[in-house]
Amino acid sequence: LIQVDDITRVFHVGGEEVRALRGVTFGISRGEWVAIIGQSGSGKSTMMNVLGCLDTPTSGRYMLNGKDVSRMSDDELAVIRNVEIGFIFQTFQLLPKETALANVELPLVYRGMAAKERRERAKAALDKVQLTHRMHHRPNELSGGQRQRVAIARALVSEPSMLLADEPTGNLDSATGEEIVRLFEQLHQAGHTLVLVTHEPKLAARCPRAIRLSDGEIVADGPGREVAMGVAGPMVAGV
Ligand code: ATP
Ligand code: MG
Repeated sequence: LIQVDDITRVFHVGGEEVRALRGVTFGISRGEWVAIIGQSGSGKSTMMNVLGCLDTPTSGRYMLNGKDVSRMSDDELAVIRNVEIGFIFQTFQLLPKETALANVELPLVYRGMAAKERRERAKAALDKVQLTHRMHHRPNELSGGQRQRVAIARALVSEPSMLLADEPTGNLDSATGEEIVRLFEQLHQAGHTLVLVTHEPKLAARCPRAIRLSDGEIVADGPGREVAMGVAGPMVAGV
């Protein structure tokens, strides 16, 4: 599904070069659930932005679903984003004045889908996150965990190739975070491809695979539990 080859991302700030990614290579197959971990400043968000087609690498190649997206224009990237990727954010990013159902429908509105079909699909997506009984609630009438489930339904509704989540449990208490992790487990079992960035070793340990970045480079890639605990050495397990 994903193949990145020797990707770099260099930022220029003032006269200085910041090398946020320094030659990163990995693949992700359809149906995988992968955590990207690493210390603050290690390049996680930069990697997510590239994977999510919000940014392009300075050098290297990124193939997504058979297409080379590393050299696309912003307009082309926007199309790929809409079709291929469902985003989940730490802060949910829901429209406060709209109901859960309307929030979930929104990506389909942008696609110009007819209202009736939109509604059907949005309800089905809310059903996947066990929230149909709250579909007429607005975000401020929902708990934090419920808000994140609405956001996950919104990410699912356009049937993207993969879900990308940046610190999806970062704003939730541990019990609510656990609920969301269980939901990810269900989505993984249902065959969805999930990539998430997290600070939390406990969350990474639940993922079948984790990639650890350090200073813009991959220093471990293997079973989540081992990488999270730091026992997976450089480049273990099938890389
Ligand atoms: P955190 O855990 O704190 O979110 P991170 O692993 O997500 O950290 P990145 O945001 O990817 O780290 O940043 C990696 C490096 O690139 C840092 O040194 C950062 O200062 C730099 N950087 C990131 N984005 C930009 C930008 N837009 N312009 C300049 N430098 C940037
Ligand atoms: Mg970050």
